[in-house]
Amino acid sequence: MTDTQRSPGPFDLAGRTALVTGSSRGIGAALALALADAGATVVVHGRDAERAAAAAARIADGAGRQTFTETFDVTDAEQVDAGIGRIVETVGPLDILVNNAGLQRRAPITEFTDDDWNDLLATNVTSAFLLSRRVARDWIADTWRQPQRKIINIGSVQSRLGRAGIAPYSATKGAIAMLTRGLAADLAPHNIGVNALAPGYFATELTSALVADAEFSAWVAKRTPAGRWGELSDLAGPVVFLAAPASDFVQGQVLFVDGGMTAVV
Ligand code: NDP
Repeated sequence: MTDTQRSPGPFDLAGRTALVTGSSRGIGAALALALADAGATVVVHGRDAERAAAAAARIADGAGRQTFTETFDVTDAEQVDAGIGRIVETVGPLDILVNNAGLQRRAPITEFTDDDWNDLLATNVTSAFLLSRRVARDWIADTWRQPQRKIINIGSVQSRLGRAGIAPYSATKGAIAMLTRGLAADLAPHNIGVNALAPGYFATELTSALVADAEFSAWVAKRTPAGRWGELSDLAGPVVFLAAPASDFVQGQVLFVDGGMTAVV
């Protein structure tokens, strides 16, 4: 290496391309912004093209951040294959995949419908399998490409904790924790980092009913050692860490970003 060349800094994502599924709003949009701020070119994604384009424009916001948009349904294998193919063709090879798209359904278990169960599994788990399989096929073909490529799955405090009324959602987030560990075993030998980021409670469309429930909202703050709900900016450092060379020897871990909620009873 000459004096003028340098290896990327531990948190430097310049020259890297990231896809964040479900980044047209909420947590995904915050993760996309954080990765773009660290220098990555970011593909903003959802099912609704207009919403994705608006989010991409907000993230770019004249600040020199590089964004593209892509729309496909993460539950559909053919759409996933075609969508990743379009990204590779138009933006270039992906280096970072964040499996963030997800949904929540709440009901007492006796009233939980088959459709809701199937939607939860498809959107929260099958999607991560389909997307990870698709990028792994490309990435394994050139194993020792540097820097390390990364898959970041989005779990939840429900990857560890059970709570009444959302057992099927908890099952999907538990599955994400184990998918992460298994994929790390499969992909670490190919210089691919696989970890999960597991948020506590954050105010988004997904949690709007909880935010509106004053009693529940107060319970979240009380149950969290940090004494509050998460702010979307709390996720920026952790996602950049998991996407960057700083985490190259971290494999199969679930990083809880929850103000300590899962650390205490
Ligand atoms: P939102 O409902 O605010 O956003 C969900 C995103 O996923 C949207 O961009 C939506 O885009 C996209 N999406 C949903 N279904 C599909 C699909 N089938 N195909 C493609 N895109 C889809 O959710 P949050 O931001 O709150 O949650 C993001 C992730 O974080 C989820 O995995 C969730 O489980 C997890 N999480 C959230 C917590 C919170 O407190 N909010 C806590 C812990 C984990 P579009 O509608 O355009 O398709």
